Amino acid sequence: MHFGSDVMFLPSLLAHGTSADFSEGHVAYAITIVVLLVSQVIIAAAYLVNRSRSNRAERVHPAGETQFGRMADEAPVMLWVVDEQGKCVFVNRRWLDFTGRTLEQDLGDGWADRLYPEDRENALRSLHEASRARKPWECEYRLLRHDGEYRWILDRGVPLYETDGSYAGLIGSCIDITERKLAQDALRESEARFRAIAENSGLGILQVTPDRRVIYANPAAAELLEMDNGDDACAALVGQQMDRFYAPESVDIVLEHLRMRSEGIASVYEAVLVGARGTRRSVIIAGAPVLLVDGRFHSMIATITDISERKRMEQALKESNDLLEQRIAERTAALRESEERFQRLADSASEGIAIHADGRILAANQALADILGYARDELIGGARLEQAVPAIGKMTACGEETVVLEATGIRKDGSTFPIELRGKWIPYDGRMVRVVAVRDLTAQQQMQQAENRHREEMAHVLRQVMLGELASGLAHELNQPLTAIANYAGACLRRVGRAGISREDLIETLSQVASQSDRAGQIIRRMRAFVRRGEPHRTSAEVNHMVRESIRFMQTELTENKIALELCLANEPIHVMADHIQIEQVILNLLRNACDAVQGMEESRRQVMVTTVCDGKSAVIRVTDRGRGVPDEMVTKIFEPFSTTKPQGMGLGLSISRGIVEAHGGKLTYEPNPSGGSHFMLTLPV
Ligand code: ADP
Repeated sequence: MHFGSDVMFLPSLLAHGTSADFSEGHVAYAITIVVLLVSQVIIAAAYLVNRSRSNRAERVHPAGETQFGRMADEAPVMLWVVDEQGKCVFVNRRWLDFTGRTLEQDLGDGWADRLYPEDRENALRSLHEASRARKPWECEYRLLRHDGEYRWILDRGVPLYETDGSYAGLIGSCIDITERKLAQDALRESEARFRAIAENSGLGILQVTPDRRVIYANPAAAELLEMDNGDDACAALVGQQMDRFYAPESVDIVLEHLRMRSEGIASVYEAVLVGARGTRRSVIIAGAPVLLVDGRFHSMIATITDISERKRMEQALKESNDLLEQRIAERTAALRESEERFQRLADSASEGIAIHADGRILAANQALADILGYARDELIGGARLEQAVPAIGKMTACGEETVVLEATGIRKDGSTFPIELRGKWIPYDGRMVRVVAVRDLTAQQQMQQAENRHREEMAHVLRQVMLGELASGLAHELNQPLTAIANYAGACLRRVGRAGISREDLIETLSQVASQSDRAGQIIRRMRAFVRRGEPHRTSAEVNHMVRESIRFMQTELTENKIALELCLANEPIHVMADHIQIEQVILNLLRNACDAVQGMEESRRQVMVTTVCDGKSAVIRVTDRGRGVPDEMVTKIFEPFSTTKPQGMGLGLSISRGIVEAHGGKLTYEPNPSGGSHFMLTLPV
């Protein structure tokens, strides 16, 4: 057994019992203490035996010279003896080796010369007092070692009695505790640091025993567990049973992890704690076991992080995420449904429909494929729409929301055909695309042409009929120039046969003949032009001129029937795009009907008025009469074919006239004349 530096820790062990710095060799230290005490007792006994045999003078003999002295010198600790007054009467070899002095120097109060100045007085005074009071003495002081270094010494003495029971002073031993002091300082410093960290940490820190009692709690833990004891909150938590803070659903997991701790395993887990006021908090507990030096489980220390807020946010996030996903799912389903609906709708449409973006067809219906002569798959994804409908580029370039234009389509076989294109920007899949509707106008154009032809034929027939009706008037009109020609020619013949005729007279008469022939020729030409069947041909026509031309056909009839014609024509010429023969036919028909309406009326009502006006957008030709007017039951029918109230009427004039006017983009309407008779309005776009 050796008593090296290990010995110096013994007092510390004695003083603190099983403290945290209890080192692995604590069993050996305990044995050392016992040995030390035993050796101290033996030495004390030897000293007393020695003393009883010798006189007082011997007591101060140098060590080694007596039996006691030799034993004391062999002792592994520094030993000393003081008398009843506390004056040193003996120190052993180990002490002298330590101080590097002689026995003489250290006797009396001399030993205290080597003490640190601040410690000296207290040490001496307390030793003297204890000696006099016959009480055990203990003191810590700094002692100068032989090498000039102060060392911390723990010095303890006990009363010493003679065998006869008389008091002899104190006998003591001392040991160097410098290393332990330094270790204690370091421990104190580290504990202070730990405390500072723990006290100021936002994390809850708890130390609990195996039976789950709190032995340490920091302020954050006290707050987390809602200990409302103000500054004493931490202290109030110490001693508490932790079970009261575990939420029922967390008890199992907590116990499971405590069991792991007791097996020395550190772990991190999530649990729910319920504060003293009942607030539930989700926490993360990171715990580790605190083990004793022999490996036994002592307690566990845990940091507690409040993650309620994070949990709430996670929950909120999850809820909003779920909601978003639900919305997306709904939208996707709605989109899919709307797409399917669109597809079904598009497929049932007779028009070609495509969704078109960036020069590519995203979707197309079967009708489009049929119209263009492609398979549907050939259209989707490719640039075929541009090839088949070159105008699509023009439409895409146009920023207007809705575009309608007539264009030419090119079928896959290269043949061309008329189409109507309608384009509209719509949002689709997060961007703007064009929905294009393609309508094949071939059939419509053919119908239009057939209708035009039919209308033209009808108009032609009507003109022939009208001419027949006008024949007597025309014959009368033609009769005039022909009679004049005959008269001039007869007069000429007579004068040539009778006495001759001067050259001037002859020229004059023949000029008259020529002029009258011209007039007759004009009438015939106009008649032919009117009756002639030809393709409708629209040119710029002047409205007032067309009115006057029409009136010329009616002149004879007006005169013969004593019908007053009033013209109220616009001062400025009004130009419209029209087939003037057709429009003149319409005006002529309106004039004929007006004349029919006033025929047989008293002379004051035999009035017909023609007015022309222009408002910049359209030209209006108004034919007014003061005749019988249209009977109420006829008002809705007069524009229908074969509606007539006249014995010889065909009932086709107004219906054909309306067709002609509408083909010109105009309107033909009827209004009753408030002062009796009718208003017929022919409107044409300018
Ligand atoms: P028709 O003159 O051969 O009868 P229209 O189509 O020109 O054929 O006219 C149809 C009918 O409209 C006439 O029969 C007549 O009843 C009525 N109508 C047309 N113009 C007038 C008018 N100015 N005043 C009264 N009735 C009219």
